[in-house]
Amino acid sequence: MRLDIYKTLAHKGKTEEYQVTPEITEVSHTGATYPICDRQPFELFVSNEGGTNLFIKGETTVSVMIPCDRCLSDVSVEFPITISESFQIKDEMIVTDPEENSDLAEGKEIDVDRILMNEIQLHWPDKVLCRTDCKGLCPVCGKNRNITECDCDRTVLDPRMAKFLDVFDQFKEV
Ligand SMILES: [Zn+2]
Ligand SMILES: [Zn+2]
Repeated sequence: MRLDIYKTLAHKGKTEEYQVTPEITEVSHTGATYPICDRQPFELFVSNEGGTNLFIKGETTVSVMIPCDRCLSDVSVEFPITISESFQIKDEMIVTDPEENSDLAEGKEIDVDRILMNEIQLHWPDKVLCRTDCKGLCPVCGKNRNITECDCDRTVLDPRMAKFLDVFDQFKEV
């Protein structure tokens, strides 16, 4: 959602509390898109310091559905988010720095969803597992080994060992 903060921009030295309701539905990470499975309304504190600086602070939690690295089943991954951003203000308008945070706020509005998206991307986990001992998918038949244990032979034969076994077989024939 985009939050209109004109009230705070006009109130030099004031801190105001806004109730925000995120509308973010998905987040992209390294080329893929993941659905948001949980988000909550939260309070955002917006301070106008001397009519020149704007500080925003808030805390919330967003959960994203990410497939398990091993078995690909959906995992709801919780992202605790701490928002702490500052902007410059001029003539009761937010001055955006094109190099830094230009997409987070503009004019008299703060893009709350964009801020949440950035935070999620910054704290993306290296590894996502449905459980620490996830057995993953069988490389032979592709079944989820947490659900069904298959009879596939998953021992990868070392080619040198295979040669040795051939020789062994020859000996047997003699
Ligand atoms: Zn798994
Ligand atoms: Zn199998």
